[in-house]
Amino acid sequence: MEIIPGIYQIKTPLKDNPLGYVNTYLIEGTDGWVLIDTGWNDEEAFEAFSHHLKEIGLDFKDINLIIVTHIHPDHFGMAYRLKQLSGADLALHEVEKDIIDLSDMWSGDIMNNMQEWMRSNGVPDDHFNEFDDTFKGTISDVFNTVPDRALKHGEIIHTGHFDLQIIWTPGHSPGHICLYEPTKKLLFSGDHILPMITPNISIHANVDSNPLGDYLQSLKLLEDIDMDLGLPAHEDIFTDLPKRIEQLLAHHEERKREIIEKIQGEAKNAYDISSLITWMEGQITWDELGPIDRRIAVTESLAHLEALRVEEKIERIQEGALTFYKAI
Ligand SMILES: [Zn+2]
Ligand SMILES: [Zn+2]
Repeated sequence: MEIIPGIYQIKTPLKDNPLGYVNTYLIEGTDGWVLIDTGWNDEEAFEAFSHHLKEIGLDFKDINLIIVTHIHPDHFGMAYRLKQLSGADLALHEVEKDIIDLSDMWSGDIMNNMQEWMRSNGVPDDHFNEFDDTFKGTISDVFNTVPDRALKHGEIIHTGHFDLQIIWTPGHSPGHICLYEPTKKLLFSGDHILPMITPNISIHANVDSNPLGDYLQSLKLLEDIDMDLGLPAHEDIFTDLPKRIEQLLAHHEERKREIIEKIQGEAKNAYDISSLITWMEGQITWDELGPIDRRIAVTESLAHLEALRVEEKIERIQEGALTFYKAI
């Protein structure tokens, strides 16, 4: 789909995922085309991408730069394959590149640490196997690909036709970026801002980090951007950026309020807290969630709990190997 002359959106299918598609974007330049995001690494997505590329009248070799908004496998998955076919350089934010460069860490040790950390937050043992197999499969795609370039906040990529300004928006992923084209007032928002779904903000390991705090700050960073078209990595194009930012801020405020309410006067672990709060706007109950979704719910609750702890609204209590949270 042509968005404006010289900028195309290609939807690649995302199998077994309610999001349905990953939107990738092709941007014309004088020395070749820039591709933003690559899609999930399977045959169906690859065929769809190849087909649409040809339809636009382009060949893989016409792509000279691949920019990935963040290293989640639906965005980064096909990077290796497309890099081989096109000879393009691969670029992502320096923080995401560091995560890949440290990929030796992502061996057995990190899986064990994650399990231990999940246990300390009350996740039962039977929640592990299925999730870990899925997780191992997807991270191997990511860590076999070496990026050529690390992008910095504020840097501008000049294609000759368009200027793409890098905006570092940590939260959904530590090195997530959005790209802003000031002349046409376009914002490539990755997974940072989606028009309908609230992007998942999770803590994934036992390190002192505050991804939700980062995310909320990254949202506020975009408040003053003059945007005509929002080009997200999933769902459809959107136009009202201030309204969407306001909705997302309100959603997280509401969730924080709900969490505080559940730990008034009584300390609970993250798993039990998760079982008490509303998921997917009440469309699904805790009992209906499978082990993987429950674990995602727990990592999301932990992001809210840690943000609340930084705001000094709740405290974290360590009892032996177990972690609890309580409102102050
Ligand atoms: Zn993502
Ligand atoms: Zn995504």
